Amino acid sequence: MIKFLDLQKQYTSIKNEIDEAVKSVINESAFIGGKYVKIFEEEFAKYIGVKYCISVGNGTDALEIAIEGLDLPKGSEIIVPGNSFIASGEAATRAGNKIVFSDCHRENYTISIDDIKRKITSNTSAIVLVHLYGHPCNMDPILEIANKYGIKIIEDCAHAHGAEYKGQRVGTFGNAAIFSFFPGKNLGAYGDGGAILTNDENLAKRYRMTANHGRISKYEHELEGRNSRLDGIQAAILSVKLKYLDAWTDRRIENARNYYELLENCAGIVLPKCEEWAKHVYYVFVVRAQNRDELLHYLNCKGIETSIHYPVPLPKLKAYEYLHQNEEDMFINTISGEILSLPVGEHLVKRDIEQIASCITGFYN
Ligand SMILES: *Cc1c(COP(=O)(O)O)cnc(C)c1O
Repeated sequence: MIKFLDLQKQYTSIKNEIDEAVKSVINESAFIGGKYVKIFEEEFAKYIGVKYCISVGNGTDALEIAIEGLDLPKGSEIIVPGNSFIASGEAATRAGNKIVFSDCHRENYTISIDDIKRKITSNTSAIVLVHLYGHPCNMDPILEIANKYGIKIIEDCAHAHGAEYKGQRVGTFGNAAIFSFFPGKNLGAYGDGGAILTNDENLAKRYRMTANHGRISKYEHELEGRNSRLDGIQAAILSVKLKYLDAWTDRRIENARNYYELLENCAGIVLPKCEEWAKHVYYVFVVRAQNRDELLHYLNCKGIETSIHYPVPLPKLKAYEYLHQNEEDMFINTISGEILSLPVGEHLVKRDIEQIASCITGFYN
């Protein structure tokens, strides 16, 4: 059995440290706010390379608070990649804006810059960039567009803890960036968690207020906010896991390297392109496969778990029917029937990747 994700194995490898961390939080009753949250925020800001980290309840809240705090003009359009998880869209709508879906790049699957250019109107105020699958977006041309049209950039880094564009970590390029610490993400808590990162002091203040009832002190509320906070227990767990993140990422990169080598000449498979300017952190390893559904079933019978990110492009979801943006000729529609996420996590070693690759090669022969 080769699992897609193995959080139990990961926990076992760091059990003592995690158990001690959780115990400390409970002993000190540092449940909401407090020392452990502050420490993790500082560590994570330093790790990514930004001035401010505001931890929140989950990645979706982070996106919503981040967008809302930009105070975009009423009726603003926000460009969102059509090939993503629904959270990237939900947040734009809930913050009171209109989504305009964009197509994806044909080789690395991040947002298509040509399509961004086509979709910009006088109402476009922001772009949500998703560093999809762990591969950074092509930042230089995007920042050029943003500067030219005065468009704000929010980076959705839910897949991309530690990914780099030209040697600089993602999460440092936009007006603000969000991370998710959902358990299955590359840096995951033992429950929900998220964070907003920014170098902008005013935005940081606004985000921190919004996430904590608009307060500046216990009963002084500057605005109506909400309650979205990271627990002390989750923060302490994340501090332990952050120490291992780079080693786990190296393991993912090594697993991916083995796929590239072993599947290079496999007839039914198109491998994802990792651009030369990218440090890809392989949240998922997404190939395009001929007869995808049969291959998925075949691998499943061989005890190999796979997944699909994502089976239905966002403009095609029932939730977005009202937007009438399902353009049939978008490339996201072509790939959605072909993409398959192969196991690539740090729980796997070379032997596992060899077994998976040989099953895939066997299927096509
Ligand atoms: C997981 C995810 C989110 C949201 O994260 P949650 O913490 O689950 O709310 C946002 N964007 C993308 C692309 C994601 O994969």
